[in-house]
Amino acid sequence: MTRHINLSDPTDLVGLRRYLADEDKDHRLYPLDMMGVTISADAHLGVAAAVKQALAAAGKPGRAQIVVLVDTSAIRRKGESLRRIVEGQLAPDHDVRTEVLDDGHPTLHAHEQTLDAAAAAVKGADLVVTIGSGTMTDVGKVATNRNGDIPLVAVQTAASVDGFTDNVSVVLKNGVKRTIPSRWPTFVLADAVTIADAPLELNTSGFGEAISLFTAPADWYLANLAGLDNTFHPASMALLKAAAAEPPSWADGISKGETNAIQNLTRLLALRGIVSGVSNTTACLSGVEHVISHMLDLHHAAHHKPIGLHGAQVGVATLVATRLWRRAIETDLIRPELLRKPDAATMERRITAAFGHLDQTGAIAAECWRDCQKKLQLVEANWARIQSVVSNWRGHATEFDRMVQPPETLRPALIASGAPARFESLTPVITPELARWAVANCHLMRNRFNLVDLLDMMGLWTPELIDWVMADMKAGA
Ligand SMILES: [Zn+2]
Repeated sequence: MTRHINLSDPTDLVGLRRYLADEDKDHRLYPLDMMGVTISADAHLGVAAAVKQALAAAGKPGRAQIVVLVDTSAIRRKGESLRRIVEGQLAPDHDVRTEVLDDGHPTLHAHEQTLDAAAAAVKGADLVVTIGSGTMTDVGKVATNRNGDIPLVAVQTAASVDGFTDNVSVVLKNGVKRTIPSRWPTFVLADAVTIADAPLELNTSGFGEAISLFTAPADWYLANLAGLDNTFHPASMALLKAAAAEPPSWADGISKGETNAIQNLTRLLALRGIVSGVSNTTACLSGVEHVISHMLDLHHAAHHKPIGLHGAQVGVATLVATRLWRRAIETDLIRPELLRKPDAATMERRITAAFGHLDQTGAIAAECWRDCQKKLQLVEANWARIQSVVSNWRGHATEFDRMVQPPETLRPALIASGAPARFESLTPVITPELARWAVANCHLMRNRFNLVDLLDMMGLWTPELIDWVMADMKAGA
């Protein structure tokens, strides 16, 4: 019997697995290796059942050694300690030990010492339950991965990132954020009531991250057309399109902490995690907006400033991406006769000019140049494909049109959610000069190919076009 599969439902893992199996006959995608994702207003009550199922699947039914892994933040659900609620469900049937990770920061940082401490804390356990937001979950994934992939039940307490439902962890290496392979959680339990009570900036930041769903897939598709990205998979794109079919009409519920809106946001983020997990790349959800955010991180790190919230930066930068994309889709901006091969010496000079001031040694500029050289080599190798993309631009534009929501939709949604919608509203504050630097040079920092690379190769990435896109960023909250 066949049944209808809702491709935008991240909790229907059986349906999603069946869809992916049908659409991925050559097994290019990674297996979706989670047993359950629950997103509801009482998901926290499912810990005991999830633990039981996970232990049975691991061949260890019955009484087990369970470590509950938390950080120092006291997470409450309607005034009650969530940790106590979880421990209370497990204590009758298991030996439960709670380990508190404390690295001295008000919120946990996923640097090497934390990962080591977490791996040591869960040693000997049959199963681990983490309670917390993105970093706590990422740490739990690494700690259990280092202990033979023992089952992990992740109780999600904020809708801040899309990394709860994927198989990688964002960690700090020498103070720099890096994504490393880790594992899928066995179960993810996202309780919308607890999440609604999380600090507002975490959930609004999650909303900023989420709306890049309405621009970034176009960059992934473009890179694939141009021959510069071989991670593209039509099945992953179909899931992204299903999730992006409806622009969020519930954004204002995020700022009000409404359970329903929080649930919608959590679902959107969970689906993003699943798609990047099975695609084994963040490229499917990381386009122009993400490199702009990385530029801000790079600047802050070089100046020893705190790094801003990723999703908040991505949300603002998504408004830049959508404006550029809509112009490329709706106007005759892109014309085949404008296309020119980039000149390596010129690019190197521009990279030195853009990044040379960030450190004494020139190491950052050198790193960016190394990455961009790879891109230039790929551009050279795929020149005929790039020419063909540009020649057939009007045809492709119909496809891009389905992937990019206009700023008229995204800006009001971002504002309604309570997330920053201008660079000046971010923390740390981004001055107009810094914002312009980040946007103007975003294609010079790494090897991924996106719309700005194409505009630049056509001589269109001019001060006038940058002025035009930045002028629009002054509107909004
Ligand atoms: Zn992101």
